[in-house]
Amino acid sequence: MPPDKTCVKHNVILEKGLAKKIYEPPSPEDEEFDSLFPFHGIYKHTQKEEENSYNLIVVSYCKKCRKEGLNFIQTKREVQVILSSLDC
Ligand SMILES: [Zn+2]
Repeated sequence: MPPDKTCVKHNVILEKGLAKKIYEPPSPEDEEFDSLFPFHGIYKHTQKEEENSYNLIVVSYCKKCRKEGLNFIQTKREVQVILSSLDC
């Protein structure tokens, strides 16, 4: 068996989990997110394959990357809500 992969950022052994498939090329925002949280395992950009394939894919993810990534998304949403409320 190959050795377990570890997260280069957190030095944590990666776990198997499910990520959402996204059939679009990554946006600059996605690329930034991927570089901040290299093993977030929240979504994965992939090529569209067969029509009836599932929308989830098994990935190796780092618990810490996922947690920090989700916090990041949450914070970003809150900032957007604040900004939109300042707009009026
Ligand atoms: Zn990590």
